[in-house]
Amino acid sequence: MVIGIIGASISGLIAGKRLADAGHDVTIIEKSRSIGGRLSTVNMDELNLDFGLTHFEADTETFSAFVDEYQTEGILKEWTDEFALYDGTEMYDIDPNDDPQPKYVGTNGIQDIPRNLGRWVDIKSQEQAGGLTYIGPDRTKKRAWMINLTDISVFECDAVILATPAVEAYGILQTVQNKTATRRIIRYIDEVLYDSSISLAATYDHEVPGWDGIECEHSSVRWISNESTKQEAEKAGLVIQSTHEFFRKHARTDDEKAKELLLEEVSDIVGPWVHQTKSTYLHRWKYFNARNPIDEYFMELEMEEAPLALIGDYLGGNTLENAFVSGYNLAEYWIKKFSEVTV
Ligand SMILES: Cc1cc2nc3c(=O)[nH]c(=O)nc-3n(C[C@H](O)[C@H](O)[C@H](O)COP(=O)(O)OP(=O)(O)OC[C@H]3O[C@@H](n4cnc5c(N)ncnc54)[C@H](O)[C@@H]3O)c2cc1C
Repeated sequence: MVIGIIGASISGLIAGKRLADAGHDVTIIEKSRSIGGRLSTVNMDELNLDFGLTHFEADTETFSAFVDEYQTEGILKEWTDEFALYDGTEMYDIDPNDDPQPKYVGTNGIQDIPRNLGRWVDIKSQEQAGGLTYIGPDRTKKRAWMINLTDISVFECDAVILATPAVEAYGILQTVQNKTATRRIIRYIDEVLYDSSISLAATYDHEVPGWDGIECEHSSVRWISNESTKQEAEKAGLVIQSTHEFFRKHARTDDEKAKELLLEEVSDIVGPWVHQTKSTYLHRWKYFNARNPIDEYFMELEMEEAPLALIGDYLGGNTLENAFVSGYNLAEYWIKKFSEVTV
């Protein structure tokens, strides 16, 4: 089968890799120049700073096996867990025994996960999918679906996987003329709400602080990550993540001002040195995580002749692990379901 996947982050990439391994002809369409979506790393002053997800946990057998494999290959490693809690006035050490789950990070940045998975599939980057045309069983046309790209070209395929946040999948599904088939899915995903966050990555000439990360309460900052301790760097490099409320309040504030406001808050928590930045990079994450995920690992259109499915972290939870398991489970299901199909 020719399969078109929209979105080259963890869910789309793992689904794509497994389906390609099983003999399907897979192409991933990605709107950005780089792949990885919310797994993003910026390199500044010789430091890798993860300005999306900074670290993660692994619970399920499927995901733990993947993490073990990538640890053996040196792509992932365990991070120490000297996390602190700032309660709005004071900072406390968090006892690692309260949450003994190992925390994993990319050895050279989290974006190495998508970079490595991406070696196994064809990816068309800087191509945005604007909509879908359903051809269905029309024998005059070769394929069941056309993915309409915003540069006016199309990608024809037998099956489509939407591996984007729910809001973006909703926009694409709205373009399908055959509403009877898409109605159930549209109704579900229309209800998924997202929290947003502003991330600020900053490098310093200052020495590396003694903590790995600070969870913040009663503050405009929700998390401060000490990126330097992931790579034993000699100088400090931080990633600061704002709350959803801060993101909304400063939707129209210019980046420079938003940066100053965040640094002001962080300076109250860790000290005035944080104002003395060397390099900074600010990113606004509109879809940071799903507030009300759907309780299914993937969703599928009920049309045998034109397979279409949705995957992503908002299906089954709102973590990296969910996104992985969502893509993995759909791939396993389709491999079995279409094993009779000539590839
Ligand atoms: C700041 C931040 C902190 C986080 N912290 C944690 C954490 O501590 N622990 C944890 O487990 N998870 C965390 N996450 C969440 C985690 O990163 C996500 O759950 C996971 O990366 C989602 O993967 P995904 O495959 O569902 O989709 P995404 O990463 O959202 O990827 C979707 C892809 O689709 C592409 N796309 C969208 N629309 C189109 C289109 N029309 N055409 C073509 N391409 C399109 C996008 O460019 C993107 O590459 C965090 C995320 C952020 C942003």
